[in-house]
Amino acid sequence: MDVVPAEVLADTVDRRYVDRDLCALQLDGYLRRLARQEAVCRRVLGRLARTFLAGRYHHRLGFARLGDYTRERLSLSAREVQELARVAERLESLPAIATAFAAGDLSWTQTRLLATAATADSEHEWLALARDRTVRALEALVAHPPADPDERRRLRFSLRCPRRVRGRWRQAIELARRMAGSELSLAQAAEVIAAEALSAAPAPIDDRLPREAPPEPIDTPADAGWSPVDVPIPEDVEKLLELGPWGDPFALDERLRAARRAMQRIDWQMGVLLRTFFDLRLHRAFGFPSASRYVAERLGISARKARALVALERGLRRTPALGAAYRGGGVSWLRALTVLPVATADDAWVARAGEVTLRRLVAEVEWALDRRDAGLPPAPPSPDATLAPVEWQMRARADETLGADITFTAAPSVVALFRGALDAFRPPGAPLWKGCEKVLEHVCGEWEAQPAHRDPVFARDGWRCAVPACTSRASLHDHHVVYRSAGGDNSRENRVTVCAWHHLRGIHLGRIRAHGVAPHAIIWEIGLRRGRPPLMRTVGDRYVS
Ligand SMILES: [Zn+2]
Ligand SMILES: [Zn+2]
Repeated sequence: MDVVPAEVLADTVDRRYVDRDLCALQLDGYLRRLARQEAVCRRVLGRLARTFLAGRYHHRLGFARLGDYTRERLSLSAREVQELARVAERLESLPAIATAFAAGDLSWTQTRLLATAATADSEHEWLALARDRTVRALEALVAHPPADPDERRRLRFSLRCPRRVRGRWRQAIELARRMAGSELSLAQAAEVIAAEALSAAPAPIDDRLPREAPPEPIDTPADAGWSPVDVPIPEDVEKLLELGPWGDPFALDERLRAARRAMQRIDWQMGVLLRTFFDLRLHRAFGFPSASRYVAERLGISARKARALVALERGLRRTPALGAAYRGGGVSWLRALTVLPVATADDAWVARAGEVTLRRLVAEVEWALDRRDAGLPPAPPSPDATLAPVEWQMRARADETLGADITFTAAPSVVALFRGALDAFRPPGAPLWKGCEKVLEHVCGEWEAQPAHRDPVFARDGWRCAVPACTSRASLHDHHVVYRSAGGDNSRENRVTVCAWHHLRGIHLGRIRAHGVAPHAIIWEIGLRRGRPPLMRTVGDRYVS
C-alpha cells in the first residue's frame, strides 16, 4: 500500500524535459505524505519502545547491551530508540500536542521539539508558536533543544594517504578498541590514538576550535500550502499497538520489527524521490535557500537523515541486487549501508548481508576493503573464517601513491586534537600523511607490547565476547562450553571468550546456550523460551534456522 505510484519510483523520466515547477509540486506532495507516514511509524515505535526499555527486555532476549539489540534487530542505534520512547512518554501528558500530531498538523521535528519544551500548562502556547514559526525559529525558542541523534554538530576529518597508511589506521582502531574494552566509534578511537601519541611526543598544539560557519538567516518560505497531511496509515502499523500481551518481550520484539519494516519501505521511497529533488534543486521552487532547509521545514526530518537516504539511494542504483534486497526488507538499513562499499564488486555480498550478524558483517567488509587496498579481490570470506589481518609490512614501502582516504566525523575538539598529533609527528616539510603514518606506527607498537595481549583463548577470539551480536570487549570471562562439572575438559576447543554479562546472566541464568566446538563450530541459541524456538540461532555469527 505505497503512497507513491510505481511509475514515479521507476525513475524513467528524462530529466532534460521535466517542468521543474510541476515536478516540484508533485514530488513535494508525495514527500510530505511519506514524511507523515514515517512520523506515524516513529510514534508507534516510540510507544512500543517505552515498554521495552522500561522492562529492560533486551536482557530477557539474551542481549547484554541495548545497542546490540537495537542494531541487530531494529537497525537503529540505542540512542535513536531511547529518543523515540522519550517523545512517546512526553506526549502522554501533553494531550493537545498529541492530538495535533495525530491530526497531521505537526511534523515529527515539531513534535519532538514541543515534547521537550511544553508542559501541561504551556502546551497551547507552544502549539500556537509552532503554527506560525519556522522549525528553525522554533528550535531557537526551545531553551535546550533535545540533541537530535541524527544531527549533532560534527566536523569531518579527511586525509589522502597511501593505502598502507589506511591499513595501519584500521589496525590502530582495532587495537584502540581492544585497549578500551569497548566498541569505540571512529571518533572515539581517533581521540584515543591522538591522546596516546601526544603523551609520547608533547608538542604545542593549537587547541582553538575551528570557526563556526555563520548561521543562515531565518526566512519565511513562500506559501506552498501548509495544510495538514492526511494519508492512510501504513498497513497494520497502528494495529501493532492494539495487540497484547505487552509483557512478552518476544511478542514486543516482533512488533518493533514489523513497525521498522514499514518504516524502511517508506524510507526507500523517500530516498528515491529526494534524490531527484536534490539533483534538480527543486527546493528553490518553494523559496528555500537550501535543500536542508526544505527537508527540515517542509518534511520535518533531519537534513542528515535526508542526506543518508539519498546517499544510499545513489549507491543502490549502482548495485541493483542490493537495491532489490533493501526494498523488499530482506536487508536492513544498517546492513545495506555497511555492505555498500563492496557490493558493486561482488553480488555474493548481498546474500552475505542477510546471513551473518551485523557485527560480523562490519568486520568482513572492513577486511575486504583492506584486501582491496592491497590489490586482492574483495570477495566475501567464508562466514566461519577467522579474518586474518592483511600483512602491511610485506607491501612495497616505496608506494607513495595517494590512493586512499582516512576519514571520520567527530566533535571539533577531537578533530583539532587529532590534527595536533599528526603535526607533532610530521617530519619538517613532509606531507601530513607522513605524520599520520608515524603516529599510527607509534601507537600500534605501544599497544601490541601490552602484556594484556597474551591470553591464548582471548587472543584467538579477538579480545571480544564471542556471543553473536555482542560488542562487549571488557570484563571478559573464559567459559567452558561443556561445564567442568559435567566432565568438560580444559582444552581450548572447550573454552570460549564471553563478557561478564553473557557469562553470568546469559549462559548461567539460562537466557542463552552454547554447545559445540570452539572457535568456529559453536552453536549459539539466544533468547531461550519454553516450548518455542529461541529468538536467534547461529553457528558463530552465521544465522541458522
Ligand atoms: Zn561458565
Ligand atoms: Zn557478551
